[in-house]
Amino acid sequence: QAFLGEIASANPTLNAYVEVTGEKALAQARASDAKLAKGEGGDLEGAPLGIKDLFCTEGVQTTAGSNMLRGFVPPYESTVTANLWRDGAVMLGKLNMDEFAMGSANETSAFGPVVNPWKAQGDDAQLTPGGSSGGSASAVAANLCLAATASDTGGSIRQPAAFTGTVGIKPTYGRASRFGMVAFASSLDQAGPITKTVKDSAILLKSMCSFDTKDSTSLDVPTPDWAASVGQSVKGLRIGVPAEYLIDGMPEEIKKLWEQGVEWLKAAGCEIVQISLPHTKYALPTYYIVAPAEASSNLARYDGMRFGHRAEEFTSLDDLYAASRAEGFGKEVQRRLTIGAYVLSAGFYDAYYVRALKVRRRIAEDFDNVWGKVDAILTPSTPSAAFKLGDKQIDPLTMYLNDVFTVTTNLAGLPGISVPAGLDSKGLPLGLQIIGKALDEDTVFKVAGAIE
Ligand code: GLN
Repeated sequence: QAFLGEIASANPTLNAYVEVTGEKALAQARASDAKLAKGEGGDLEGAPLGIKDLFCTEGVQTTAGSNMLRGFVPPYESTVTANLWRDGAVMLGKLNMDEFAMGSANETSAFGPVVNPWKAQGDDAQLTPGGSSGGSASAVAANLCLAATASDTGGSIRQPAAFTGTVGIKPTYGRASRFGMVAFASSLDQAGPITKTVKDSAILLKSMCSFDTKDSTSLDVPTPDWAASVGQSVKGLRIGVPAEYLIDGMPEEIKKLWEQGVEWLKAAGCEIVQISLPHTKYALPTYYIVAPAEASSNLARYDGMRFGHRAEEFTSLDDLYAASRAEGFGKEVQRRLTIGAYVLSAGFYDAYYVRALKVRRRIAEDFDNVWGKVDAILTPSTPSAAFKLGDKQIDPLTMYLNDVFTVTTNLAGLPGISVPAGLDSKGLPLGLQIIGKALDEDTVFKVAGAIE
């Protein structure tokens, strides 16, 4: 009831929820109350969550922020959300996001932008909560849910978490099932939670992850009790600081934040090791070839015949496809699909797509080469604090630069967390990122706990 009240008063301004499932929430909450009264119930019994609108929810509209999917009511549940309901969580509603998760400011949504509950001191301008999981981050930060699900293809969990003073983790690729998640770029997409604390993050992630035969890339590995690692000593852990993340034009405040993080970990007994990840500079261009290529293949299904919005006026079958896609997809999605089709086309496949896959391998090898020397890596989460809504809209390339510190872990399949690490001079939250070895979320959570 309390969360539904908060949503009713703040959502008209924040636009974090695209649909509120109040009755469903109260019914689930009553069932949880009954279980708890009998001393029963799961790890998340009665916990009210928001769900990013790319997780299919049975009987509840799922749009991925797109007019292409407006009115789509899935007849099945995603594995991640099914796991949460199994453990007793309550669904408050579906959260706004960039269209098909393509964006870094939540400005590409067909439902309009999400507003960050934070404001710069002395400035009333509305700020972006980041993207693509902007609705999830804004809702958690503004207390419109206890925690939220999100997804991360190139930073969409960690960047919004950094912009809103919340915690966001992308687990190792394959830990969370992609079954029932609207696909963007299948070799990069992973689900994860956005929460208020590192401990909540560990508890939520454990519930979300499972081996799933319905996702061919799902890993058949046990899911540890990560919450037990939060608060444990980090004494003796070796923390890598990669030289290449000190990018040209990095704002002084971000440099200071990073140095501060190093000092905190030193004081907690960690050994700081300078490392090199030499192919980092190729990560963004590689991501912006691989992700659009996979998107153009994944989104080919939305043709107005098999799936998605169908245009009413057309002259031929080809015209129906073209008109449906032109009406259903927004500008950013069309831009990505055009790039993707181009880099996969016969004349350019080897020059762009195949080359990008080779560079992707080099980026992953950079990490393999340092794991003998370090246990985890510390970097800033983003190159800036939250910016004004509308600020970067005119220039897609400037927008893509937001992902400079986050895309590397998606390309390499590694776990990464963004943890709040203080405020900038305008009073806006900043985040630090901890990257871990494949399947070593344990160390990631330990180090995050030490920074929190
Ligand atoms: N901002 C990145 C993009 O636009 C990442 C998005 C994501 O992680 N879903 O592609």
